[in-house]
Amino acid sequence: MRSQWGLIVADPIELAGAKGIRSDRLRAMKESTSRVEILRGLVPAAVAVTLLLAAPLWERWLPAPEVTERWPYLVLCLVAIAASLYGSRQRWTLNLGTVTLPLTVGFFGSAMAAWLVLVAFISREVLLRLLPSKPARPARSWPPLKLAGGGARLVLATLAAGWVWQGGRANLHVGWQLSAVATFLVVLAALHLLDLQWSRRLRSVSWRELAGSLSLDSIGWWVGMAFIPVVANLSWPVALVPLGALGLLAAETARNLHLRRRSIDQVSELWEVTRAGHRIIFRSPDLAGMVGQVLEECRNVVPFSWFQFELLEGDGGPRSWFAGPDALIEEGVPEPADSPPAMPGIHRRSSWKILGRELKGDGEVIARVRFWCDPRRLEPTSVELLDSLLPQVASSVHRALLDRRAKHDPLTGLADRGVLETRLEAVFSAIRDEGGTMAVIMCDLDRFKKVNDTYGHDVGDRALLQIAQVLEEHRRETDLCCRYGGEEFAVVLDQTDGETAQRVAERLRLEVQRTVFTAKDERIHLRLSAGVAAYPELYVKDGKELLVLADEALRMAKSQGRNRSLLHLGRGKYRKADGAVAESKESTPEPAAPTLFA
Ligand code: GH3
Ligand code: MG
Ligand code: MG
Repeated sequence: MRSQWGLIVADPIELAGAKGIRSDRLRAMKESTSRVEILRGLVPAAVAVTLLLAAPLWERWLPAPEVTERWPYLVLCLVAIAASLYGSRQRWTLNLGTVTLPLTVGFFGSAMAAWLVLVAFISREVLLRLLPSKPARPARSWPPLKLAGGGARLVLATLAAGWVWQGGRANLHVGWQLSAVATFLVVLAALHLLDLQWSRRLRSVSWRELAGSLSLDSIGWWVGMAFIPVVANLSWPVALVPLGALGLLAAETARNLHLRRRSIDQVSELWEVTRAGHRIIFRSPDLAGMVGQVLEECRNVVPFSWFQFELLEGDGGPRSWFAGPDALIEEGVPEPADSPPAMPGIHRRSSWKILGRELKGDGEVIARVRFWCDPRRLEPTSVELLDSLLPQVASSVHRALLDRRAKHDPLTGLADRGVLETRLEAVFSAIRDEGGTMAVIMCDLDRFKKVNDTYGHDVGDRALLQIAQVLEEHRRETDLCCRYGGEEFAVVLDQTDGETAQRVAERLRLEVQRTVFTAKDERIHLRLSAGVAAYPELYVKDGKELLVLADEALRMAKSQGRNRSLLHLGRGKYRKADGAVAESKESTPEPAAPTLFA
């Protein structure tokens, strides 16, 4: 016989309601259901709980953990649906409006399943915290899971509403109805509390927040109430269509709630950043090192694939550095592909969102930064966070540049004489006290005056800048290259003997020789002479004296015809790059003498 609700054959509750059978009769009917049937009815719940317990394992490979936040609702819903499908083949069933449950399983089983799911959810959260934390991955939304989660929430609300409604129809005892509703509310509230609290890393959750989050379920409740009469007169496949539509709506609301919560978290992070004053202390005196640190700071707040830092003034005029997805800083201009790479599972192409910002110091633009972001990964709050971080980055960069300017030559950007002297003495005293070798190279451009006289000082300046860059580029990482004055450069080499230092000097000389400088459509070939002196190969009292000897070797190189390097051997002897020894009559510095007693 088909019930008036159009769902179940021989619905006993319907019959009970029609014949005015009281609840003690119903209890007798329920008790007649065999234990095997009860156990079989609990199978879907057991499967759901197992799935939930296994969730932490596969969740570690999921791109975005928040996608699984609504899992408990989904599982509850699946339990109810599976039980109803199973139950529709049973004699003893309870029509719950949208869902039909076997009487026994429906009445006790679903409440039990709800509690089981709650326990499973808690275990899952505990397990998640016990397992080693997964590597941070950019949040990626996967709409089907989000939709399923939100939909499940709505279905759960509808289910509870149907329970009460149908209970009323079947003249069920008011106590049963109230306990069903109470179970539903307790489960929901507990889930929300856990969800809110754990997602906030156990920070306290206000009642307002909890109430706000529960309001979604209240809406679901009332929608469910209005929905039951419609569903009750339809068959299951037809009923699933509007149910699905409502699920989509609920999912979207859930997603918005989630996004809002995340933005609240990010804003509090932002507040912490601003409150801390966030001063960046640049570890490296090098400009590229500074740019690398700026990149690190920005990467903490905004996900980007390409990065450009353009310095507008100082250190030889505008300069630009960039980094690609490998985050390695290089000097130059970035050349990213036309669009971000395709994402697995998301086929929609997307073009870059380029965030361009100016860094200001003392009211003037000192640098520009650009970030090539994938819009699919970019949250509005990340941009907000970046915008609040950048003024602090700007002030740190400004301070670092001023500091550099005080110690660096404005034309070439190389360290100045003050830095040279400090380094020279520091290296010298370390070698004297702890042992080792050090060397100094003095370089001077050959006939540079002629360049100035022929092409003007402006061209001369540009040539000097280019030569400085060649020297800076080809020095070893541990060496310090300074502009000593005019067109003279000095290099301090720690832990290097004279012969090695001469090889470095030769390399620098050849690099300068290889560099072609053009001015007024003419190719200018610049040449360099170098003098090298090493300690303790030469006996000197301090670093300054070593510099004087290197300068002496330089003058000797000039007098021998320029474009060469000479290593000072002491007592007026100099070693050429090919190993031959040249002698000078005028110079008489001491070679290293074994001094037993100082
Ligand atoms: P050489 O060293 O081979 O003996 O000949 P030189 O012509 O290079 O002679 P010297 O080193 O004595 O000349 C230095 C010249 O370098 C003088 C000056 O015209 C030029 N100079 C020094 N500082 C600067 C600078 O900052 N800018 C420009 N454009 N020229 C400079
Ligand atoms: Mg010169
Ligand atoms: Mg000179």
